[in-house]
Amino acid sequence: LSLGLLAFSTYKKPVVKSQDPQDIEQKIDSVLALMTLEEKIGQMIQYNGSWDVTGPATGTDNEKKLENLKKGLVGSMLNVTSVEHTRKAQKIVMENSRLKIPLIFGYDVIHGYQTMFPVPLGESASWDLGLMEKTARVAGRETAAAGVHWTFAPMMDISRDARWGRIMEGAGEDPYLNSKIAVARIKGFQGDDLSDPRTIAACAKHFAGYGFAEGGRDYNTVNIGIYELNNTILPPFKAAADAGVATFMNSFNELDGVPATASTYLQRDLLKGKWQWDGFVVSDWGSITELIPHGVAKDKKAAAALAVKAGSDMDMEGGAYESSLKELVEEGTIDESLIDDAVKRILRIKFRLGLFDDPYKYCDEAFEKSELYSEANQQVALEAGKKSIVLLKNEGEILPISNSIKNIAVIGPLANDKDSPLGNWRAHAVANSAVSVLEGIKNHAPKGVKISYTEGAKLSTGDRSFLNPMTFNEDDKSGFGEAEKLAKQADLVILVVGEDAFQTGEGRSQTNIGFAGVQDELIRTVQKANKNVVMVLMNGRPMDLNWSTKNIPAIVESWFLGSQHGNAVGEVLFGKYNPSGKLPVSFPQNSGMEPLYYNQKSTGRPDGGAQVTYSHYTDSPREALFPFGFGLSFTEFEYGDIKLSADSFSENGKIEASISVKNTGEMAGEETVQLYLHDLVGSITRPNLELKAFEKVSLQPGESKMVRFTIDTRMITYFTANKKWEAEPGDFEVMIGGNSVDLKKANFEFK
Ligand code: BGC
Repeated sequence: LSLGLLAFSTYKKPVVKSQDPQDIEQKIDSVLALMTLEEKIGQMIQYNGSWDVTGPATGTDNEKKLENLKKGLVGSMLNVTSVEHTRKAQKIVMENSRLKIPLIFGYDVIHGYQTMFPVPLGESASWDLGLMEKTARVAGRETAAAGVHWTFAPMMDISRDARWGRIMEGAGEDPYLNSKIAVARIKGFQGDDLSDPRTIAACAKHFAGYGFAEGGRDYNTVNIGIYELNNTILPPFKAAADAGVATFMNSFNELDGVPATASTYLQRDLLKGKWQWDGFVVSDWGSITELIPHGVAKDKKAAAALAVKAGSDMDMEGGAYESSLKELVEEGTIDESLIDDAVKRILRIKFRLGLFDDPYKYCDEAFEKSELYSEANQQVALEAGKKSIVLLKNEGEILPISNSIKNIAVIGPLANDKDSPLGNWRAHAVANSAVSVLEGIKNHAPKGVKISYTEGAKLSTGDRSFLNPMTFNEDDKSGFGEAEKLAKQADLVILVVGEDAFQTGEGRSQTNIGFAGVQDELIRTVQKANKNVVMVLMNGRPMDLNWSTKNIPAIVESWFLGSQHGNAVGEVLFGKYNPSGKLPVSFPQNSGMEPLYYNQKSTGRPDGGAQVTYSHYTDSPREALFPFGFGLSFTEFEYGDIKLSADSFSENGKIEASISVKNTGEMAGEETVQLYLHDLVGSITRPNLELKAFEKVSLQPGESKMVRFTIDTRMITYFTANKKWEAEPGDFEVMIGGNSVDLKKANFEFK
């Protein structure tokens, strides 16, 4: 008997299309009516699949897990991948359980499954929403081809602190940019129809506040108020809910005293209440059980009660729901209607994925074979790589490398590294499979150019695995002599430095965001031997580039670009691609400035002027070294003045802001035109500027285009002193330019 038929024997085969929402709701109710309490709770349990579901399980825990799968007491597994394994695991449920409710398989596909794309922070530098939708689509397709239904992505935690290792997984510091990118990625993963077996369910994470960990220390306390939460942190999540993201993941952190996993305000009042979102919330790994060390629950039972009341629907590998929910319902502490609500949500997504129609619909070996790491996917990775590169400095137009350069020395610990470009959270990427920068340079340098290479120094030594402290080469400078020699002989040096792939990611917070190991000394040694240096950075967070910016003529930010890293860099260095990336996050002068972000508020001590005690540092400028939105091109763009169609508007009205942008250089290029607003007087303090729109324009040499933006009530609405989303009458400044500092300005009034 096929699984669906048993459950819906009272329903005829749908004549309407299977995605009809009403039809799905009826089916959910019919399944729910058949379920025992134990089976319902089972749907709320997610097991980690790293134990061997493919053979006889060993160990008492595994035997119990296998038994529970057979009894239909598990709703989901994570980390089971490949058609062979997902099929085996699904079969355990389908061939043994009473109701045959299929498992949903989840996995962390953060920036690619096997074909790797730039890490999310890097790719966000493209500001190219179409591109990000495309890479998520390809990543989703590869994931689906490997038998997996659901990714734990995109992460949309705003982060303003480069010390936080997970800054690499998000879209940077700005709520608007994060919202746009979150929606693009969700659309990419999920497509138009979740039941298409070439798309997967997405997950908005981590709900909420996780990126605001104090001191940038992962998992740490978050203390922010209700206005900051609503105006800065929640907008991407709201956008994700509106875009129909299938699932949410809550977060490890507490928020103003309440752990997010136990937050009724976030999960029930906002997400499932006000926002009317109908998917399910998965806990973060063990975050329900972590309510015990958080100190708000004395044991697993108390933790389970808190989490289920707050609206956490599925327990990821924590065991709290498994051990306690049944008892909690039976003794009357938890009303069964809360369990029913969670189960309906989980079943809803399984129906939308079409798993009830065919639990093996994602098990297609031929598709798996043809899709993973295909040539077409590599092309998308290359495109994404190029568009994510940010040119930070190009003094004397040393780039693109001129034809007169005949002898290039490639130096640095990351230059011939084929692994670090894959970044952290690399799903099923094959170790050492990326095109290294050295390979990319060789692929793209004109014929006849001599390329020499030396590592100079090692970066990391020893174990790089998850959560273990990383060790760096702090004293071996034996390669410096060769580096110096090659630098001296060369016309130009390409110095590839930065971070190891595992310096950013979960549990990878740092107090110092400078160059680890002996890299600082290597950089100085090379620069002393040859002033003609192009620094290529590989990293997952903003770094302290203070010395380099003063002393190195060209700096190329290449993040971790994924499978095609080297080719993307090679195309930029030799002028085959004109870089267009813009920073999605501010780069500080030094580590001590963190957290740093562009959309700050004015303090009560206005900047400069007569007040010598304005908010400043005595040992450092307070401005970013490279501001949010910044990135150079091989050409130049000139902005005209802002023209406003009117100088005021009122509720339901709008005005148009237009500006001309001209390519005044000699190469075709792409510019990201950014619009910021400043609400001069608000009922609460307001940021000095906030990104509200952007537009990418391609311009031929000499060409100019008018870029038009609509300013309307939506754009000026925020969470006001009334704790409501409102537009407040008053004066505004509109600013437009190619980054968050060099801006044209005009004023308007909202009446
Ligand atoms: C992370 C999540 C991730 C989960 C499953 C957790 O440690 O915080 O982002 O999805 O593990 O791997």
